[in-house]
Amino acid sequence: MTFIITILALVMVNPFAAVNNDLATRDKVEIVIESNDQMKFNLNEIKVKEGDTVVLTLKHVGKLPKAAMGHNWVLLAQGTEMGPFAQKAVQARDNDYIPAEGEGTIAYTELIGGGEETTIEFVAPAKGEYTFICSFPGHYALMNGTFIVE
Ligand code: ZN
Repeated sequence: MTFIITILALVMVNPFAAVNNDLATRDKVEIVIESNDQMKFNLNEIKVKEGDTVVLTLKHVGKLPKAAMGHNWVLLAQGTEMGPFAQKAVQARDNDYIPAEGEGTIAYTELIGGGEETTIEFVAPAKGEYTFICSFPGHYALMNGTFIVE
């Protein structure tokens, strides 16, 4: 009887190890989002899993300079309202339209102009739905989407 139990225990250890290895290779997710001169993102929804390392690249595929048509990608914290945040952001011109110390945000990119791109890395927050925007003055109404953490 003792012999049989030992074998069962050995069989059960192996699949467990395999699952752990799989998780270790899956936890980095790469996302590319484009923005353009028409004041649009090409994605209105992004899905990741809780705890994923998110490597997000924002591309500006337009031609207009940063001062006229700058774009960034800002992930708002839960409870941060898009409208009031954007109004605050307008006053933060010297900080690329990000309120001091990123207050109300989870992650954000730098502000870029046509032909540029930028990449950030952050850990996906707790499960839930979050809002992302471009915080350049006047852009958030057209440039926003939902960041879903499963
Ligand atoms: Zn923009």
